Amino acid sequence: MRKKIVAGNWKMNKTWEEAKNLLLNINNYVSAHETCEVIVAPPAPFLDKATDIFQSKAKIAAQNVSEYEDGAYTGEISTGILKSINVEIAIIGHSERRSLFGETNEMIGKKVDRALNEGITPIICCGEVLEERKSGNQQKVVSEQLIAALAKVDTDGAKNIIIAYEPVWAIGTGETASPEQAQEMHKAIRDLLAEKYTQAIADEIRILYGGSVKPSNAEDLFSQPDIDGGLVGGASLNAEDFKAIISAGS
Ligand code: PEP
Repeated sequence: MRKKIVAGNWKMNKTWEEAKNLLLNINNYVSAHETCEVIVAPPAPFLDKATDIFQSKAKIAAQNVSEYEDGAYTGEISTGILKSINVEIAIIGHSERRSLFGETNEMIGKKVDRALNEGITPIICCGEVLEERKSGNQQKVVSEQLIAALAKVDTDGAKNIIIAYEPVWAIGTGETASPEQAQEMHKAIRDLLAEKYTQAIADEIRILYGGSVKPSNAEDLFSQPDIDGGLVGGASLNAEDFKAIISAGS
């Protein structure tokens, strides 16, 4: 039985004062609702203090990580740096990293490999843009993204990954994939994982849905057999909305 995950991606939002209040609020709530795993990815400067606030009731994730080990890479954050402040999860290959910062499938594969080698769980994002869905190519696009992201991931590594299917046309737009559309893709992803690894391993991997998840649609989405929770952007910035989504995953 896969435990559901509700993960919040704050992106480039919140001052420390605002972040602290939201983290404290979520932490109090999570103490009483522990049937689903809760992850929050705040802006990088808050990672260390956020980890202290959560004290492992909920987990903290980075929004990105470097493909390089260390050295002259101004502005980048390595897996080793994350580990040294007890951050053990990183979102990798978010569509905004792909479209705004030029991340390629190959770079994402390197980041995933580096994360796993350092004991960091990658939340590997994949998803098609609107034209790709309209032309019926969504499964081809997503499987290409995943094959590249998992190129160096062996069976042991696969036991420590989380996948997030995020149709780009549904991110921050208010448009949500229908539960049936999302389930169809999640099933295709699980089949791909079963083919690459084994059915037993594929059955253990959590596949999250992301794209305008909100309190009003979370329960329908999370009740699909292959949807194991959500990666939530906008609605994770509001304590009441995020808590309602956690409750839908509990
Ligand atoms: C995201 O950015 O990962 C996301 C799913 O955003 P939103 O929930 O705002 O669509």
